[in-house]
This record gives sequence, C-alpha cells and structure tokens, in this order.
Amino acid sequence: MHKSFDIVIIGAGACAGFFTAFMNAGGFSGKLRVLIIEKLSKPFKKIAASGNGRCNYSNESISPRDYISLKPDHAFTGVFFDKIKSFDFKGYLNDNLIYSRSDEYGRLFPFTNSAKTMTGFLENNLLCSCFETLFDTACRSVERPREGGIFKIKCENVKTGEKLSVESAALVFACGGAAYPQLGTDGSAFEIIKKTGHTFTGAAPSICALETPAGPLHKLGGIKLEARLKYKDFERTGEILFTDYGISGPNALYLSPHVSRDLYAGKKARVSIDFLPVPALSPDYFTSKAGCQNEYLNLDLFSGVFNRDFLKAFFRDSGFIIEMCSRESAVKIHSALKNYETDILRVRPFNEAQVSLGGVCCREIDPNTLESRLVKNLYFAGEVIDYTGGCGGYNIHQAAVCARILSESLAAAFSIKTGRQTE
Ligand SMILES: Cc1cc2nc3c(=O)[nH]c(=O)nc-3n(C[C@H](O)[C@H](O)[C@H](O)COP(=O)(O)OP(=O)(O)OC[C@H]3O[C@@H](n4cnc5c(N)ncnc54)[C@H](O)[C@@H]3O)c2cc1C
Repeated sequence: MHKSFDIVIIGAGACAGFFTAFMNAGGFSGKLRVLIIEKLSKPFKKIAASGNGRCNYSNESISPRDYISLKPDHAFTGVFFDKIKSFDFKGYLNDNLIYSRSDEYGRLFPFTNSAKTMTGFLENNLLCSCFETLFDTACRSVERPREGGIFKIKCENVKTGEKLSVESAALVFACGGAAYPQLGTDGSAFEIIKKTGHTFTGAAPSICALETPAGPLHKLGGIKLEARLKYKDFERTGEILFTDYGISGPNALYLSPHVSRDLYAGKKARVSIDFLPVPALSPDYFTSKAGCQNEYLNLDLFSGVFNRDFLKAFFRDSGFIIEMCSRESAVKIHSALKNYETDILRVRPFNEAQVSLGGVCCREIDPNTLESRLVKNLYFAGEVIDYTGGCGGYNIHQAAVCARILSESLAAAFSIKTGRQTE
C-alpha cells in the first residue's frame, strides 16, 4: 500500500460514499490518489440500516427548521442551507438509474424500497481504482501540519493492533457523529478533531425515543396510537408507541431533536399531546352519545376510538374514575384527551439514537468549500458538522450535499477540471 496520498478521508459512511460517486462522475478517476480509512470491516453500514432497511434518503419538503445546530452560526447556515435546498437528490439518483418513491410524509426512498439499491450504487463507485481503502482501521491521531504542509495520520488495525501511519496533502473528516456506536460512530473522533484546534459544540442524542415521568402510561408498552405532539413551534400528527419509560414511535422521533436540543441546554421540556387529533371526534360527537336513552360508562363512551387498556391507564393518570357518563364529564374527558401534557425527562441514550446533535462548530468551516477556516486543506463533511437534520431523510441528504461540495472544492484545490457544471 502507498503511504502518501493527495486526499485521505476518515470514515467510509454516507458522505464518503457519495463523494466517490461525484468524483467518478466529475472525471477525477486516476488523477488523484485517495485513501478512505474505515474502522468497521465494511463501508456504508448506516446507509444499509437507514429507514428500517429502506433508506429514507431525502424528503420532498426541506426547510431550515429541518436542521438544528447546538451553536448556530447564521453566516454558515444561510449558505449551507441554500446548497442543501437546491440539490435535486432525487433527480441525481434518477440520472444514475435509481428511481424513487415517496410516502405520505414526503419521505423519499429508492423505488425498490431497499437500502441495498443505494449501498450497491456506492459500492460500485468505491470500486474505482482511484480509491484505496483501509477497513478495520481506526484513525487514532492527526498531526496538524504547518501552513500548507502534509498531514500525518496515525492509524491502528482494530483486529490485529498493527500500527500504521500515512501522509496526505488534504484531510477530510467524514467520521459521523456520536450516535449508534454499534455502527462505528462513538464520538471518539471528536477528540482527534479537537487536537487540530477546532471547537466541538457538544453531542446530544437525537431521532430517538423520549423518557417521561413514571406513571400509569408506562404500563402500556407496545400500544400504538395516532397523536398530535406539540412543543414550541413543532406540531405534528403521527403514530406514537408507548414504552415502559415513555414514548417512542415515528412521531416521538420527529419531535426528539427539538426536545434534545433544549434538554442539552439545561432547559425543561414539557410536551402537549392531543390524543384525539381527528376533527370529527369533537366534544359534540361524544356528548351526543352521553345522556341519550342509552346510558354508558364514561370508559365505554371512548372505547370505540381507543384501546381500552390505554383508556384505563389514561383515566388513572388523569384522575378520572369509571362511572356513568354525563354530558359534562364527557366534555371534561374529551378535553383531557386533547390537552394532555407531560414533561420529557431525558431522550434515550446514544446507542438508541439515529444521529447526534452538535459537532464541529460551523463558524470554523467555510460553507462554500467545507474547508476549515483554521487549518488549510482540512475539511469536514456530514454529521460531524454541528448541523444535524431531523427525522425524514434530512441527514443522508445533508451527507450527499457535503460530498458534492467536497468534490467541487477538492477539484478546485488540486486544479482538476471536472466535467460537471458548478452552480
Ligand atoms: C439506525 C439508523 C437509521 C438511520 N436512518 C436514516 C434515514 O432513514 N434517513 C437519514 O437521512 N438518515 C438516517 N440515519 C442517519 C444517517 O445514516 C447519518 O446521519 C449519515 O449516515 C451520516 O453520514 P456521515 O458520512 O457523516 O457519517 P456515517 O455514515 O456515520 O459514517 C461515518 C463513518 O466513519 C467511521 N469512523 C468514525 N470514526 C472513525 C475513526 N476514528 N477511524 C476510522 N473510521 C471512523 C464510522 O465507522 C462510520 O462508518 C440513520 C442512522 C442510524 C444509526
């Protein structure tokens, strides 16, 4: 193996994968010597796991509210978000023979509904002779060069313990965040990055379930229902799943970045839950049934629209007793179901979170090139940057946009003419 490279990329995840695709399409092949170092034995493991194996790679709707920074930098996000928004990922994949489908939430998937379609595409690009790869190899430290000098990257084979050192003119940290250590990202790369002089804004689990105070609803593990969750300016109807510690399910995952950011900042988080988000199930619907010639128990009155176990637990939690139902009590129960509130104590830990909020401070990165503003020829791409997407395909989209920017800026840095037009 060579010991000296033009570009070394740390991490063979989503970013590195799309980078190889853009490089190949841009005609880099054979013009640069690129090494990708990955501590796992295979590349693209998160892409393979994404979207429950379906790879939710982007979304039909993308707004600035879909991304969160622990320490926002408006100069960075203004430019970077424009690049995210203007990238037609679906069109790009279509041009590369990956047709897409979307669901009712605008989430985009390969038409095959299989992440293997995406990993196959990336693997084909990685096979190009332009890229060398080192798997089962963790980067342990990086020697920051003097202005414009060579990076010295020290690595270790995680299976044999063998040490290895390589040099590179440019270095890219595409090593992900601190979530889901089972797939290689345990946040330890942040320690290496900090030694290059960069600021790390923190790490908080996101796209994960939420812990609530103990109570009767914790006995409902496995029960799902449709609910509207509200927290500050977040509001969304979707499925939640009760667990023995709180709430999970898609709608809780959508909410989690907003709550996690505030809890991380030491704030309290109190969430409103509307268990009756269907307009037709108004108080009138229930009062019209209560107090007519058929007499109902209050529990029975609502059991046509809710799981009875949920209702019993909800009654206990909210202090209702089971009794014959009057119109007044129907209105009270209806209102309690619409306006339930709970504190969120914690978000679930990193090993259950799909992404981490936080990372390298955006202020220290040029959004046009992703080059460090502190160290020449050092680049950051993907989840390692403190600009993390919410649930719905925003993170793989962000990683692909980073890959695209990188391929352009490295082409320019090495004075290579690409076949692609830049915007
Ligand atoms: C279970 C799960 C499901 C997900 N589903 C979706 C989804 O449907 N849609 C979506 O948009 N996002 C999803 N995500 C998030 C998305 O996968 C990530 O945000 C995205 O992959 C980040 O890309 P990246 O290239 O920045 O980092 P990653 O893809 O995380 O790749 C980083 C790589 O760097 C390697 N690495 C780290 N440190 C070192 C080191 N010191 N030396 C060598 N290698 C190192 C890691 O092993 C890893 O392979 C999901 C995540 C998980 C965990």
